[in-house]
Amino acid sequence: MESGTAGTSTETAGANGAEAPAAEKLDVHNPATGERIASIPINSPRAVAETVARVRANQAGWEAIGIEGRYHWLGKLRDWLLDNAERVGDTMQAETGKVRADATTEAIYLTDLINFYGSKAEKFIGEESVRPHSPLLASKKLSIQYRPYPVVGIISPWNFPLTLALGDAIPALQAGAAVVIKPSEFTPLGLAEVVKAWKEEIGGPDVLDCVQGIGETGGALVDAADFVQFTGSDRTGRKVMARAAETLTPVSLELGGKDPMIVLSDADLDRAANAAAYGGMMNSGQICISVERIYVEGPAYDEFVQKLTKEVGGLRQGADGKAFEKDVGAMTSPNQTAIVEDHVDDALAAGAKALTGGKRVEGPGDYFEPTVLVDVDHSMKVMRDETFGPVVSVMKVRDSEEALRLANDTRYGLSASVFGEKERAERVARRVECGAVNVNDVLVNYLAMDVPMGGWKESGIGFRHGEYGIKKYCRPESIVVTRFSGKREPTWFPYTKARRGLVGRIAQAFNARDLKRRLGMRG
Ligand code: NAD
Repeated sequence: MESGTAGTSTETAGANGAEAPAAEKLDVHNPATGERIASIPINSPRAVAETVARVRANQAGWEAIGIEGRYHWLGKLRDWLLDNAERVGDTMQAETGKVRADATTEAIYLTDLINFYGSKAEKFIGEESVRPHSPLLASKKLSIQYRPYPVVGIISPWNFPLTLALGDAIPALQAGAAVVIKPSEFTPLGLAEVVKAWKEEIGGPDVLDCVQGIGETGGALVDAADFVQFTGSDRTGRKVMARAAETLTPVSLELGGKDPMIVLSDADLDRAANAAAYGGMMNSGQICISVERIYVEGPAYDEFVQKLTKEVGGLRQGADGKAFEKDVGAMTSPNQTAIVEDHVDDALAAGAKALTGGKRVEGPGDYFEPTVLVDVDHSMKVMRDETFGPVVSVMKVRDSEEALRLANDTRYGLSASVFGEKERAERVARRVECGAVNVNDVLVNYLAMDVPMGGWKESGIGFRHGEYGIKKYCRPESIVVTRFSGKREPTWFPYTKARRGLVGRIAQAFNARDLKRRLGMRG
């Protein structure tokens, strides 16, 4: 098994005792129990190319039914998600080890997103009429139509297996593209279930499919697709971008983060501490926009740390079935637990203190204790690299200037939060270098799909949500129609002194911005 991948196994099967070629499979485990719950075939690069070719053949028909026609089908997907929320929640919970509350948020987000893009698509990507900027183009009717990339390939991670796969597929489908998704090898089941329902229960057009596997399958999708939407680590994002460069395929990359939270001395410290606990521990801290680093102005530090430690120390961890009675679930990928442990051990060895948590939980299942670290500094991995686990680290700062300097001292720039008196906090928030900042809240920018969500610096290239989140799947096609004309334009052949002189004088009259030059005189 390649390090950094889910378990794979090889099985041979053959009719009448004949040896068939080995079929590699992905073994899927429930992280809350460690139990193997499924084993599914890996798609070869050839199968990926065939899947892309098949949906590509159906894309023109999908584009032709228009925005309303596509919303009709996506609306059926919304209804299916609403009707099957429990079933989807069960699969999510089984393959991720999430607590019930976290496992059931995905369908809620997706149904909202379908309605958002269904109702806004005409505004965002509908045909645009444009007035020519120059009277010399007065005879032209200008318009822009937004035509989709035929096939969008989506490669997604394991922390929100539906949100980060279907969530990017929905605007692409609404734009008229066909979509093929490669979900994470750790969490392939939920997406496969929805895609199967799209085909068999909803009866949707054959423009949505998924392929299963690890890096080789993902690479084959990069080769075959016309646009690649990738969500995952910056390490893999670089590989995807390099591979896409070979075919000049555009990419949008949603990568990691190391999100700071700044707590000003005039903040409501109860709200700030509760928000830090939620923003740092929701989904076991396995969110790209999790709160990871906290900078607190001196006068508020002691009280904030005491409240935060109490809140985090009181969180209920474990598997809760359908009972909604736990707060923090399992680590979904065992590789990630090792990273979290390494960051915490590195910090503790260098002088940091764990006020609560600080280590793995003994099995069954893969859990890391909700952890609050203090006495940390920027030489430690836990303050520099993405931890992606239930760990928040707190530093005392002199003032907001020092908080901003430290918050911006990172190669990442996904999102941030600032707590304090509203106007002061907003002034500070505007100076954080990242794609989105929440004032007196955490994580909520992801639900505000009206505005873009994406990373600065090494947190990504491109954005999802808002107008940009659907327009990126389209190529503008400018249509320039001649409304009235003679046999030839004055600029066409044959060139003569008289005609070029006339064109020059007209251009000068329009382009000059002072009277003398307009009249053909030198300034
Ligand atoms: P990862 O980079 O290991 O894997 C992401 C996907 O890429 C998986 O489907 C994987 O199979 C595939 N892949 C691996 N090698 C590939 C290759 N060579 N070519 C093509 N595809 C390949 O990331 P992960 O561990 O699944 O997810 C965690 C990371 O995702 C974290 O860094 C997190 O911050 C990031 N993330 C970002 C966002 C965001 O919106 N910015 C959201 C969620 C997660």
